[in-house]
Amino acid sequence: MSSNRRKSLVHSFTVRLSLALAGLFTLSAALLFGLLYPLLAGALERKDREIIGARLNECAAVYENLGLKGLQDLVRRDSAAAPAKAFFVRVTGRQDSALIISAPADWLLFDPAKVPASGTPEPDSGLSWLRIPKDGEKDLTVASMRMKDSALLQVGRSTDSREGLLEPFQRTFVMVMTPALLLGVLGGAFFAHRAMKPVRAVVATARSITDAGNFSARVPERVSRTELAELAHEFNRVLDKNQTLIQGMRDALDNVAHDLRTPLTRLRATAETGVQVTVDPAAAEALADCVEESDRVLTMLTVLMDITEAEAGVMKLNKTPSSITALLGDVTGLYELVAEEKQITVSTDFTGAGEAVVDAVRMRQAFANLLDNALKYTPPGGTVRVGCQEDGDSVIVSFRDSGIGIPPGERPRIWDRLYRGDRSRTERGLGLGLSLVKAIVEAHQGHVAVSSSPGSGAEFTVKVPKI
Ligand code: ADP
Repeated sequence: MSSNRRKSLVHSFTVRLSLALAGLFTLSAALLFGLLYPLLAGALERKDREIIGARLNECAAVYENLGLKGLQDLVRRDSAAAPAKAFFVRVTGRQDSALIISAPADWLLFDPAKVPASGTPEPDSGLSWLRIPKDGEKDLTVASMRMKDSALLQVGRSTDSREGLLEPFQRTFVMVMTPALLLGVLGGAFFAHRAMKPVRAVVATARSITDAGNFSARVPERVSRTELAELAHEFNRVLDKNQTLIQGMRDALDNVAHDLRTPLTRLRATAETGVQVTVDPAAAEALADCVEESDRVLTMLTVLMDITEAEAGVMKLNKTPSSITALLGDVTGLYELVAEEKQITVSTDFTGAGEAVVDAVRMRQAFANLLDNALKYTPPGGTVRVGCQEDGDSVIVSFRDSGIGIPPGERPRIWDRLYRGDRSRTERGLGLGLSLVKAIVEAHQGHVAVSSSPGSGAEFTVKVPKI
């Protein structure tokens, strides 16, 4: 598993949620187990004590009424009737001498003399209790009672030891809990994964908008009215609103560009006439500046209008079979001097002629913009490689430079009209070059993309269909 995938798994809400649920499930099961075990053990001990206490009272009554002999007869009779259920019975005289001792047959290895002649007194019953470990699974529980003649009467019985009780309890717990926990984790992961589907759809849509500039992407909506379905619905509404606003701004910009062109052209013509007729050199210089600035704004307006036309599908394309490599040759020739001045090495790597039916003028304009950018954003001493190759029904052209590169955050925005990168402000430009490239290429049913790792340059790739 790649480290990225491992990282995204660790940060995945689905994984976290199912692990948290599994943890909670285990904790509550352990708590239940911890509560149940002492309750069960306590109930069993109480039951044992009840039985032993009743037997002790019986023995005490016989001892008080019929004396030692009567008790001996009772013990013998009972042991003979049910040897397996027999009790341990001991009467200890004043000098700690055992007057009668009876131990069940299965206690052969047990030395009754080892049972202490005392125990923990229990205030209510006047009895003292002792618990002596016998073997792994059984304990010996003994109740003691002081008789009127000071003899100590003790009655005992094998009882389930706590350890012996705990072990099967633990085994059952593990046997039940392991598959239950596994089922809990898998079930939790499944449901959490399903529940998070709308959130993943929102993330994918947001990514496709920010990374790929696909502004028409929307989250698929479902009929259910859960909170997450509502989130998807509201997210789509925000996107619709944004798109309407962006479209409104674009339309306003287009209208302004359209309406400004005529007065600006008139202004330029007037300034030009002024330059020719004025005799004042200062006025001539000011008017010449006006002409220059008007030219700049007019270029901007023309490009804006071209972009709008191309995007709206009304750009007039004069498509003819052309050699893309020849167009690239023209463009590199045009920029030879600029490259030389900046000491940038421009190399070409063409395989095949790259024949395609395109509007040669528009395509040349797009390639020129890309080469212009590559030279503009590459420091002196760098390299620019222009590539062209055929790929099935398409021709792929690439401009790879060793320049400043484009930070990931700026990449989706470079195609926007009038957008200029933070580090490009020192260079000349209008922020319209790439918008025009994209519009021209897409008007040819082509596709343009960029890849860049900051510091190691950028590569723009244009893919146009041959026909
Ligand atoms: P500009 O007039 O600013 O060059 P463009 O639309 O041509 O406008 O480009 C938009 C932005 O994209 C630029 O401001 C720059 O930040 C970035 N950019 C374009 N081409 C390159 C490149 N080859 N290397 C680095 N950044 C580039």
